[in-house]
Amino acid sequence: MLVLTISAGTAVALWLIYALIPTCYYRYWRHNPWETATAERSLLLSFDDGPDERYTPQLLHILARYQVKAIFFLPGFKAEQHSDLVRQIAGSGHQIGFHGYCHRNPWAMGWIRTARDFRRGIGVLHRQGIAPFWYRPPHGMITLANLLCAHRAGMQPLLWTVLVGDWRNIGGDEVLARLWRQVARREVICLHDSGEKTGGEPGAPSGTLAAVERFIPQALAAGYRFVTLGGAVEAKADGDLGEDDTR
Ligand SMILES: [Zn+2]
Repeated sequence: MLVLTISAGTAVALWLIYALIPTCYYRYWRHNPWETATAERSLLLSFDDGPDERYTPQLLHILARYQVKAIFFLPGFKAEQHSDLVRQIAGSGHQIGFHGYCHRNPWAMGWIRTARDFRRGIGVLHRQGIAPFWYRPPHGMITLANLLCAHRAGMQPLLWTVLVGDWRNIGGDEVLARLWRQVARREVICLHDSGEKTGGEPGAPSGTLAAVERFIPQALAAGYRFVTLGGAVEAKADGDLGEDDTR
């Protein structure tokens, strides 16, 4: 019985150190890396879980209309299936970040599985000529394993300050209302241009796109500007690309 009690306590302590504390630190205490370098009222748009042939081209069209650049966090398995869309995103001047390969919850993955997922996912992007600098863990869950893998690959974690639950099919009006409830000054906005096989509800990105189409002109009219993470990425482009494709 004593042994069982100690084991349970040890397991909880290890879980706290491995997953909960790193996630809370990055979500609630750590400032965004770009925060001090950007002006007041600046917004970074990020789109997770694509590309998706039904929604991503429409989104690119909307962004192009307002000349707004964004960052797309692509799970490796989607990037692998839609290399044409990956090219289209990069060719339109947007940035591409790393979102794991299989999009499983990192809290449920140990060191070996995490390292394998990184190698496979980064390999997919490297084969498409993309060296990601920013890493967004699937479901926003940080662990010591994915922090170490990101560090070894020369990437930095980037979470968000605005998250509106647009992976649920709540419609454009609601997505827009939630955006404006959360946006204050300098924000990293996390939206989703795809939900297929990553936990999103079918059709949900339609609401996201409808909201983005109205949000961008409203934000511009309100004096916000849309920023990118260009500086860090350019610095990265001259350096080591991190772990190579060892799939
Ligand atoms: Zn995701």
